[in-house]
Amino acid sequence: MSNINDFLSECEDSLAKSFKLVDETAFANFKRIHAAFQNNRVALRHFAGTTGYGYDDVGRETLCKIFAEIFGCEKAIFSPNIVSGTHAISIALFGILRPGDTLLSISGDIYDTLQSVVCGENIGSLKDFGVNFEQIELRENNFDVQAIENTLKSKNIKMVIIQRSRGYCSRAPLTIAQISEICAKIKSLSPGTIVFVDNCYGEFVDTKEPTHVGADLIAGSLIKNPGGGLAPTGGYIAGKEYLINLAAGRLTAPSIGTEVGSYQSGYQYFYQGLYQAPHTVAQAIKGGMLFSYALSELGLNTLPKANEPFHDIICSVVFKNAEQLIEFCQTIQYASPVDSYATPMPWDMPGYNEQVIMAAGCFVQGASIELSCDSPIKAPYTAYLQGGLSYEHAKLALAFCIEKLNLLK
Ligand SMILES: *Cc1c(COP(=O)(O)O)cnc(C)c1O
Repeated sequence: MSNINDFLSECEDSLAKSFKLVDETAFANFKRIHAAFQNNRVALRHFAGTTGYGYDDVGRETLCKIFAEIFGCEKAIFSPNIVSGTHAISIALFGILRPGDTLLSISGDIYDTLQSVVCGENIGSLKDFGVNFEQIELRENNFDVQAIENTLKSKNIKMVIIQRSRGYCSRAPLTIAQISEICAKIKSLSPGTIVFVDNCYGEFVDTKEPTHVGADLIAGSLIKNPGGGLAPTGGYIAGKEYLINLAAGRLTAPSIGTEVGSYQSGYQYFYQGLYQAPHTVAQAIKGGMLFSYALSELGLNTLPKANEPFHDIICSVVFKNAEQLIEFCQTIQYASPVDSYATPMPWDMPGYNEQVIMAAGCFVQGASIELSCDSPIKAPYTAYLQGGLSYEHAKLALAFCIEKLNLLK
């Protein structure tokens, strides 16, 4: 183990510049968040729980205002009443789209769980309600501007959806610069088209968010980046006020919208998690960078590659065979603070064509801002690793993996 420590220490030396850039991003985001807390005069009373309708729930209302300010938006919903990222995105889509409208994805396949929301048969999907869906694939990790232009010129597109993170596929994440450029293009071609960004895994990775550079609407999960590892549940939707009002009609009911919603356990962890989120995201990215650097030094293919910047919090690693992949995921589980004694096995997860193995020993169930790893068991044998509340945790887990897989020969 001592030569593993030496090896990791050398990797850290080589990563010093990359780490510094991550710290600078975290500081820029932290300053914006700190200012929003001050501007909204956050006080102890905001943390108190509420019951029933939750009228005049100052904790809920202030949280939403802070979030809107941080993300440069007119309005936001930041709520424990949203159960996941899929739910947040689904609320926005159903709240805004109407029968006959067309939703266009310009980043290829939408996230697995959204496929059923949009295209499912007889389950109350958008399709069942008469909303059309089309998609344009990415080209060489960027938008296919020509195809987008042709579609926007020839068809009436109500909403464009962009998935910022790579999710669980081998493409690169989309950068804020790329999103900025395409927003300008879309607005010049079709000013009425709404640009919606699935922002999951992207929050605080850059100093700007899609809503700072032209997106009308974003949504995501609080058990990923913006909950800072402390939010116990929840989701958010943020953007133009008229769009948030439409989404709010679906979150609760038309007309009562965001006037209601209580949470008896109180809001402390949502405030505190958001306040910490830039730091937590930086920890997760540095951990991912160490995995990427060390494992590529040891001969494995990783994405992002060693010393490349991260544009979401995911790092993928390609293993030689299924056995090595499974052993890696099992070691991540073994290195977890919770359920470390459990051994994850590949299983037939609903919605997937091949077996999947998942390692997640988290404080908050399934929280992927905590160190976690998912892999479909198919070639190329790729593990998707993300999160880590502390850099130390990622580093220790990596040391265990190198030892268990006998990678340092
Ligand atoms: C996680 C994720 C979702 C869905 O969020 P859940 O909380 O798992 O429902 C959607 N899109 C992307 C890109 C994600 O990473």
